[in-house]
Amino acid sequence: MPQVYPSARVGDPREKISPAHPATGLSTPCTSPPTLLLSKMPETETSRPSDPKVKKPKVTMMDQFRAAKEEAGDALLFFRMGDFYELFGEDAEVASKELGIALTSRAKGAEAMAMAGVPVKSMEPYLMRLVRAGHKVAVCEQTSDPRASKGIVDRAIVRVVTAGTITEEDELDSRASNYLAALFVDEETPAATSPGSGSSGLGSSKQGRSGLGWIDLSTGRAYAMEVNTSEISNELARIGPAELLLPEDLPRTAPELAEKIQGELGPRITWRAPWRFARTSALRVLHEQFRVKTLEGFGFPEDSIAVCAAGAALEYARETQRGACEHVLRLERVDSDQHLVLDRATRACLELTETQRGARREGSLLDTIDASLTPMGGRLLRDWLLSPLRDVDSILYRQRGVGEFVDAPFLREGVRELLRGVLDIERLVAKLSTGRANARDLVALGRSLEVSPPLGEALAGVYSKVLGDLTESLDPLDDVVSRIDETLVESPPINLKDGGVIREGVSSDLDELRQIAGDGKAWMARFQGEAIERYGIPGLKIGFNSVFGYYLEVPKGQVGSVPDGFVRKQTLKNAERYITAELKEFEDKVLRAEERARDMESELFGALRDGIAEEIPRILRTANTLAQIDVLSALAETAAKRLYCPPDVDSGEVLDIKDGRHPVIEAMQSDIAFVPNDTLLSRRKRSVGIITGPNMAGKSTYIRQTALIVLLAQIGSFVPASSARIGVSDRIFTRIGSADDLSRGASTFMVEMVEIANILNNAGPRSLVVLDEVGRGTSTFDGLALAWAIVEHMHDTVRARTLFATHYHQLTELSERLPGVHNLSVAVKEWEDEIVFLHQIVEGGTDRSYGIQVARLAGVPDALIGRAREVLSDIEGDSDDLGSRILRSVELTPPNPTNPEPAGQIAQQPGLFDVSEPSLEEKLADIDIEQTTPLEALRILASLKNQA
Ligand code: ADP
Ligand code: MG
Repeated sequence: MPQVYPSARVGDPREKISPAHPATGLSTPCTSPPTLLLSKMPETETSRPSDPKVKKPKVTMMDQFRAAKEEAGDALLFFRMGDFYELFGEDAEVASKELGIALTSRAKGAEAMAMAGVPVKSMEPYLMRLVRAGHKVAVCEQTSDPRASKGIVDRAIVRVVTAGTITEEDELDSRASNYLAALFVDEETPAATSPGSGSSGLGSSKQGRSGLGWIDLSTGRAYAMEVNTSEISNELARIGPAELLLPEDLPRTAPELAEKIQGELGPRITWRAPWRFARTSALRVLHEQFRVKTLEGFGFPEDSIAVCAAGAALEYARETQRGACEHVLRLERVDSDQHLVLDRATRACLELTETQRGARREGSLLDTIDASLTPMGGRLLRDWLLSPLRDVDSILYRQRGVGEFVDAPFLREGVRELLRGVLDIERLVAKLSTGRANARDLVALGRSLEVSPPLGEALAGVYSKVLGDLTESLDPLDDVVSRIDETLVESPPINLKDGGVIREGVSSDLDELRQIAGDGKAWMARFQGEAIERYGIPGLKIGFNSVFGYYLEVPKGQVGSVPDGFVRKQTLKNAERYITAELKEFEDKVLRAEERARDMESELFGALRDGIAEEIPRILRTANTLAQIDVLSALAETAAKRLYCPPDVDSGEVLDIKDGRHPVIEAMQSDIAFVPNDTLLSRRKRSVGIITGPNMAGKSTYIRQTALIVLLAQIGSFVPASSARIGVSDRIFTRIGSADDLSRGASTFMVEMVEIANILNNAGPRSLVVLDEVGRGTSTFDGLALAWAIVEHMHDTVRARTLFATHYHQLTELSERLPGVHNLSVAVKEWEDEIVFLHQIVEGGTDRSYGIQVARLAGVPDALIGRAREVLSDIEGDSDDLGSRILRSVELTPPNPTNPEPAGQIAQQPGLFDVSEPSLEEKLADIDIEQTTPLEALRILASLKNQA
């Protein structure tokens, strides 16, 4: 089916609305408020008294409305009527409620229809509020020039605005992308297996592949990838789409997945007919858009399911933009294997782009390291942070560019000085492509592109490969810049209609028309002065109105002096208005000149805009280059300012950080010196570190800083440490025990366990796992048992590099049983029963939590503290007893690190505790390892031991 954009162009071009008078800016007669306008609105234009010649129009305005509404579907319809956009019926009710605007009624009786309107001049904020509230809005414009048409003007839907297709840069965060995404799930294609990617919480039966496509229409960037269906949630979390297109049949074909996505993205989902995701239609849209016969040049085989999703997204984009997507130039292939995977919970825990509490940008890692100067650079850095690299060469390629900028401060400052003048080129280009760019936008584009040649000069002597490549790909674009400069005045008005956009000397015709119009105004002033003198009418004034143009106004008291040639046109209370032949003759000339000058300016501007639009590919390439230069120099700026070091990144398994610091806490607490700490992990001998120590000592800070340093290293950045060796990770997992995380509300322990299951299933030997107080949300016995079993499992089966902060000091026993487990603790100084936090990580465990001392520091009353001490000494014996009970029970399991079965996966069967007990052998044989939780395993062990 060919891609067509049907329009509601059903009007009869006979509607006559007088335009604003160009010379005076006096507005059209059509300025009544919307309710007034509508209550008077005749059903057909025939009844309009001012237009008696129109006989029997075939189409009424309400016909136009109905056609447009049908086309708009579930979108609210903004129907242009003069100076207002009107909404009718249910649309009006929705808008009235969401926007708090008055709801009135059109016509009466059976014809009655609710309506509400917003003024054309200030429609954007209203429109955006509706879109933000999850609505779609279709804008139906008057598309023929009312000056040229008689009867009803043509009307057509010119755009549909949805959350994922906003291109108005005022409405968007300049430092984040606004993605429209589409998902296509293919149950037939089996999931690709890669080490460490097992099933996730989606249930293990569905293991297909899926295609994801996403586009930022405000910048023209489009991406697609293929991914295991089990990974969809992580990828969607990374992309963070403003709107997600799903096939309508997904709840039937993949109910679990559909439900999960609905839970996560709910109101941002737009359902689309399944055929729109079909390969044939997707390929057609993509081929047409990129003017290619195959997508193999972009790295997509024709049978790739990624194209189904990308095609569906692009089709929707073109539908909403009415085809104006010229700036979407290529489809970038994203490979999930190339990126360090960060799932939703990890991104949140590590506060990469926003804080967990309050979801603010301040206090996030991105905010701390972002020294970028251009909006493109800001967005690119964010993208880098959310998808760090895995390939050592690619990481070092970037890092050497950062390094060169660190080593050459003058080069860096010179480059950054130039970048300061660069505006949002990508979003200006999007405006250009969608036909919304005004003269100021083009001037801004010219100013921004102007930096290209001097930037190329500044970078002429660089030695790193990345900066060399970028310098080479910088297009000076002087032809584009000079074309803009030569055509447009330096600071043109926003509105083309105001005139004065085109420079003098561009067109001799235009200059001549302007001269006539300019002379005309002078003539008019002179005429007024002369008339006053000639006829002796001191009160005579020249005025203008839209009904009979220029006139001479004479105060009532002076009408006696009016000569014969004056023709009276209007009588006011205090004055009479006249026209004269001389005045009309000149008026004709002046007005025509002004009108023609304006038309000519429009034409010249249109030609300039089209000419520049042809250079969009070159402009976007340069924007992309500028963004990369910006990010590399920004990372260098941060590195230099905060004394970061270049990490040795390799494919080994060692993580060796000397004097590591937490980048965000270090930057935020300027008054207290941050205490640096080392981290040493390796997959074989030192894979699991257990960190104990009192509350507030710095455990959480320490384990997070390790994750953040690895992440920074893998985006190519320097890191907050004195030296670092980073064996790359394929995934980072971070979990905070529910007791530490108040923001998640009810059943937090369940959430925590779901997340732990996800880690145990998906982490592999190349992963970095950071666990903070996991197992805290349940009873001590349960929690300790779980924590114990988790450590064993990480050590024996997953074998990921793991840091586990815990207040269960009993876990320190594990270091004696498992060769890869080591203990760390945070040093505190005890002084006269007080504690002083040193924030210093030391080897070895601790057996005290100092909870009471911390409570005392926090100001809990002394009497209560004393009582707590008594209770503690009473129960300390018990709790030691608890530890030794666990130890006794685990003695049953041989401490065998090569044990192929995951520790703890032994099942409890029904009837295990029956009075008529089966034999030990029978019980063992009955255990279903697959179905057993670690907790049950410990219970079983206890019971087996009792029986033995
Ligand atoms: P814990 O997890 O052990 O309860 P946190 O890691 O939450 O402790 O640290 C508590 C506070 O101590 C942090 O908010 C920070 O202000 C301070 N802190 C932690 N580590 C350091 C450090 N290495 N240097 C300086 N201050 C630190
Ligand atoms: Mg903590």
